[in-house]
Amino acid sequence: MADFDCDFFVIGGGSGGVRAARMAAQRGVRVVLAEAAALGGTCVNVGCIPKKLYSYAAHFAHDFQDAAGFGWQVGQPRFDWAVLKANRAKEISRLNGVYQQLLASPGVRIVRGWARLVDAHTVQVQTTEEVQAFTAKHILVATGGTPSVPTFPGSEHVVTSDSMFDLEPFPNRLLVVGGGYIACEFASIFNGLGAQVTQLYRGEQILRGFDTDVCHFIAQEMRKHGVDLRTRADVQSIEKTADGLKATLTDGSILVADTVLYATGRVPNVNGLGLGAAGVAADSRGAITVDAHYRSSVASIHALGDVTARVQLTPVALGEAMVVVDHLFGDGRRSMGYDFIPTAVFTHPNIGTVGFSESQARREFGAVTMFRSEFKALKHTLSGNGERTFMKLLVDTASDRVVGLHMVGPDAGEVVQGFAVAMKAGATKAVFDSTIGIHPTLAEEFVTMRDPYAG
Ligand code: FAD
Ligand code: NDP
Repeated sequence: MADFDCDFFVIGGGSGGVRAARMAAQRGVRVVLAEAAALGGTCVNVGCIPKKLYSYAAHFAHDFQDAAGFGWQVGQPRFDWAVLKANRAKEISRLNGVYQQLLASPGVRIVRGWARLVDAHTVQVQTTEEVQAFTAKHILVATGGTPSVPTFPGSEHVVTSDSMFDLEPFPNRLLVVGGGYIACEFASIFNGLGAQVTQLYRGEQILRGFDTDVCHFIAQEMRKHGVDLRTRADVQSIEKTADGLKATLTDGSILVADTVLYATGRVPNVNGLGLGAAGVAADSRGAITVDAHYRSSVASIHALGDVTARVQLTPVALGEAMVVVDHLFGDGRRSMGYDFIPTAVFTHPNIGTVGFSESQARREFGAVTMFRSEFKALKHTLSGNGERTFMKLLVDTASDRVVGLHMVGPDAGEVVQGFAVAMKAGATKAVFDSTIGIHPTLAEEFVTMRDPYAG
């Protein structure tokens, strides 16, 4: 490999890029990584981590109210947006340092600047001082995604999730457009923090692709928590007025907000990347086309994570990075399965889900036995909080295998992660039934569902 400046050049220091770079360096590979912004990428800087911290902040609003039923006298709580922002910024900057260390310890050379492909083995990086060129035996593109906002009259006034963490001032009236993960999470978070939130979704029901019962249940819970969630609703135009941003909706009604968040999907981050120059094929959305081993149309260039626009989740980018490193520098035995990927939506309450939705399961297996349960959590018998919990199991009737598990309730992600292991291992309903519950918990419901749901 000595003919090249390095063995492995990684473009992008986010979830996938950092994992690949450090795993390769630990094997003695000469690695260079280029990052144009902060180390850690979307997840650490403007995604999972700050989002979850803000979600914790929002949950306190209910905790203060819930405490009264347990005998606590809590004075009138006051939320300080500036304190939350400052503490988040401090923690994120600590994590940026941790990432720097994770790369530096095994010997990854970090180049700060915008990288672009020149040919199959050459990358140019525009640093603050100069343009540096590197040749590499292998190149990995892990440049992630970026928010996509439609163009319409006044679209220049809207913001994306990237700006939500540092808004100044706090948006007392927030309009959220979209019905996916980000729209639902931010609607819940800012509602909890005290904003008056209106969420518009263009379709029939939010969270397309999730189990229909889950979608209906979370929509109902979000409304109960105070989000003004409107379906079959969209923005036609936005105008800046002295009173705030005046949004005219497609039905002619008017909404005035301090901030309009567009959470209408993310597209691969490939602008100015030089895919054409290097001959790397991409689809109509710009997503880099890869084979089962993440190899692009150019044999020396691999791509993974959000830039391939498959499953846009941090653990998926991490898993893909492990496979790439294993195939390029290891024994090549590692593979990545895309079935039974668990996921959580950090709405209030949370959604946790793994496996098939009911409609997918019926398409895939034909006969499906369904178990479902809806109840008030023990905690809320004293708190007076009207929040309810929903759980659903889908079983392939022929094999008895549990193929779908869904929950809407507190810490649903924590609950579902463990069940995902069992389902990946092929656990049957009989195994669930023979598992002893932990009492009293919400999770025990999944191992005590006895009667199929008749509808
Ligand atoms: P990224 O992490 O986006 O990293 C790409 C990096 O490449 C960036 O640092 C970027 O600056 C850099 N870069 C881009 N182009 C260049 C270039 N030409 N030169 C140099 N550097 C470049 N996933 C979850 O699993 N759980 C969650 O709770 C969750 N919450 C999310 C919340 C939000 C608001 C968002 C936006 C996303 C969330 N995600 C979540 C998704 C998750 O963040 C992404 O799937 C994950 O970060 C993808 O990793 P990646 O390595 O592909 O890209
Ligand atoms: P999603 O693809 O999840 O949702 C996009 C939403 O915007 C959909 O409701 C879509 O509607 C709607 N939409 C798209 N275009 C328009 C338009 N022109 N006008 C109005 N509405 C529109 O994307 P997100 O941006 O929410 O999140 C991106 C990805 O990031 C997620 O898919 C997920 O993989 C990841 N993520 C994961 C999180 C987690 O793990 N907790 C949290 C946040 C993000 P329709 O359904 O009709 O197409």
